[in-house]
Amino acid sequence: MIKLPVYLDNQATTPVDPEVFEAMKPYLTDRFGNASSKAHSYGWEAESAVKFARELIADFIGAEPNEIFFTSGATEAINSAHFGFTEIYSSKGNHIISCVTEHSASFESLQALERKGFDVTFLPVSKDGLIEPGSVKEAIRNDTILVSVMAVNNEIGIINDIKSIGKICDESNIIFHTDATQAIGKINFSVIESNVHLASFTAHKIYGPKGVGALYIRNRNPKVKLAPLFYGGGQENGIRPGTLNVPGIVGFGKAVELLKQNMSSEKERIMQLRERLHKGIIANLSGVSINGSMEKRVANNLNIRFEGVKSEAFLMALRNDIAASSGAACASDSTKPSRVLKALGLSDEQANSSIRFSIGRFNTKEEIDFAIEKIIEAVNKLRVLSPAEKYHLK
Ligand SMILES: *Cc1c(COP(=O)(O)O)cnc(C)c1O
Repeated sequence: MIKLPVYLDNQATTPVDPEVFEAMKPYLTDRFGNASSKAHSYGWEAESAVKFARELIADFIGAEPNEIFFTSGATEAINSAHFGFTEIYSSKGNHIISCVTEHSASFESLQALERKGFDVTFLPVSKDGLIEPGSVKEAIRNDTILVSVMAVNNEIGIINDIKSIGKICDESNIIFHTDATQAIGKINFSVIESNVHLASFTAHKIYGPKGVGALYIRNRNPKVKLAPLFYGGGQENGIRPGTLNVPGIVGFGKAVELLKQNMSSEKERIMQLRERLHKGIIANLSGVSINGSMEKRVANNLNIRFEGVKSEAFLMALRNDIAASSGAACASDSTKPSRVLKALGLSDEQANSSIRFSIGRFNTKEEIDFAIEKIIEAVNKLRVLSPAEKYHLK
């Protein structure tokens, strides 16, 4: 039996893996201690669970445990990186380099820094959605203090060449932050190999719980300092005070442990499902194109444009059968065309006829076949219903 609607929105969030849930449970019940309580076993138990998770996460990205700072998610990690870094290093320069296709957590926090007087260069991308590393090099000025570029895009799933960008930053002695939220578990990611100084993560995109994430802050060659966003009890070395979300952190650790065990086989399986979906659609429908590079793309993403079909009408027509999205979850309230798709050179109309399907650990072949059938049905129906749009096809 297929559970409806079929969930194909795994880049918006993922379900908590049952093993993650089991690992978290005791820390919501019996082992409820505050990880900062030093005087009893409840505290020690919580502290040691946090330590274990911190080690797992650090190891997975090639970091040291003391370089991992737990946050409420990627949005907070990214904001901490941007605001915390610029607060300390503003005397060294005023210029930041980023990209037009960043997630809004990054894009909007950099816009807030612009309003505070920083000069931010938002680099364009190729029509494949990729950042040309050479354009980062060209944009570097004497007063550039930070480069912030995402590793994997959340809407089109493209994989940026952060190794080359990291190398350029290293050669110019510029600090490099990457939003690696969509990268971990999808591509091999190492903070050392990519010369990353700051990196942001969240648990809920990798089958962990919502409301917990981490910021990697490099502690050696060079040691990067950040001003905290909050002040309080001194947890996380004072960088992120506040009682630790112990069950969340335990779940995050378990989620990473599962990635470590299954990543390559899972990637292969998801890629096959994605290809099945892709082939099933193009074999049966004309006027269909993929947004963004197909080669440099994570296995789970298919961002696809159906000419003559409005994505909102499409998602509405499919709402009982398929859960997908027309862009980032955080931006899909607005009817504005996706900033990311516009950056690829798409017209408003093309951007508004694009759908993101993102496949996850729990999707099956049967679900994909069901989805293909429903997609074909809906597109054919909507194209007949809107002859004016169909006319624009030619
Ligand atoms: C989901 C996501 C975020 C935000 O993460 P939260 O933990 O929900 O704050 C940031 N960047 C990217 C690329 C994402 O996909």
